[in-house]
Amino acid sequence: MELTTEQRQELKDVQDIRATTRRPVVAELEAAMHTPIPVLDHGFVRVVDYMGDDAAIVQAARISYGKGTKKVSEDRGLIRYLVKNRHTTPLEMCEIKLHVKMPIFVARQWVRHRMASINEVSARYSELDREFYFPDPAVMGLQDTKNRQGRTGEVGDQVATKILGDMRSQCDAAYDRYKVFLDDGLARELARMVLPLNVYTQWYWKIDLHNLLHFLSLRMDSHAQHEIRVFANVIGDLVAKWVPTAWEAFQDFRFQATTLSRQEIEYVRGHLTGAWQLPGAEVTLTPKEQEELMKKLGLSKPGS
Ligand SMILES: Cc1cc2nc3c(=O)[nH]c(=O)nc-3n(C[C@H](O)[C@H](O)[C@H](O)COP(=O)(O)OP(=O)(O)OC[C@H]3O[C@@H](n4cnc5c(N)ncnc54)[C@H](O)[C@@H]3O)c2cc1C
Repeated sequence: MELTTEQRQELKDVQDIRATTRRPVVAELEAAMHTPIPVLDHGFVRVVDYMGDDAAIVQAARISYGKGTKKVSEDRGLIRYLVKNRHTTPLEMCEIKLHVKMPIFVARQWVRHRMASINEVSARYSELDREFYFPDPAVMGLQDTKNRQGRTGEVGDQVATKILGDMRSQCDAAYDRYKVFLDDGLARELARMVLPLNVYTQWYWKIDLHNLLHFLSLRMDSHAQHEIRVFANVIGDLVAKWVPTAWEAFQDFRFQATTLSRQEIEYVRGHLTGAWQLPGAEVTLTPKEQEELMKKLGLSKPGS
């Protein structure tokens, strides 16, 4: 992640700003503001602004005239109650604005989260930099045959080196061609067509806490693609600093929690009460469903 001297100066200028305010301020997030956190080879996440804190959630839930907070334990209990029972509108009172730089294929997954405001750099207006994402060999997996959307294992050092070399020359050739088109006077909006999906883009992204937690629950999940998951993890760390109590509740009731289907509940209940041993009372799950249930419960299949 390289920044130009001008960009560095711009960051220093905003980092130096000091203001007195009546707004809630979260010291830990303030300290992180305007510092780009590197993600992947050229990407970053930077906190530009935020509104609200844990207390703002409580304040909205209590429709308070003042700060709305009571004892720490009562506030924590209320936030946990809200998150547990999906009473989510008080969480929408908190918002965060991030500056994110990511490869276009990551942006394409990210943009599916519609409940956010985005302003992306225009490749019609500005020339894109010669910045491409190349994966670390350690995350260069093979096509997973079971999970068709995923990867598994590693392609191995030798194959990774060959593929990376090919990727680099392909991207260089594409960028050289892009430059030739620009030199020929072709409009930027057309010249960009030859650039691959791993070229970097950037945007400002503003979202409220409720929708952000939804985004994180999907994109920090192990099913999400590695390249978006690493961004989500960095944002998760920022949220933990920003609203620690809401984050704890999110971990307990959403992210590390699970839902069981009606059949799974009957299966577990049957096992716990011994009812499944009664003739005709057994609820059957297919072996695949049983495996899924074991996974949800953090157990491995007997004998495996
Ligand atoms: C692992 C994974 C794999 C995926 N694979 C694919 C894929 O192969 N192909 C593909 O196209 N997408 C894929 N997606 C994207 C996915 O289908 C969703 O579009 C994405 O996760 C955004 O979720 P969302 O709509 O809940 O979020 P948001 O757009 O942020 O919406 C948040 C919530 O707001 C509400 N909402 C927003 N807009 C509407 C609306 N128009 N109508 C009703 N309610 C609305 C819904 O309750 C929604 O849950 C994948 C996502 C993940 C996490």
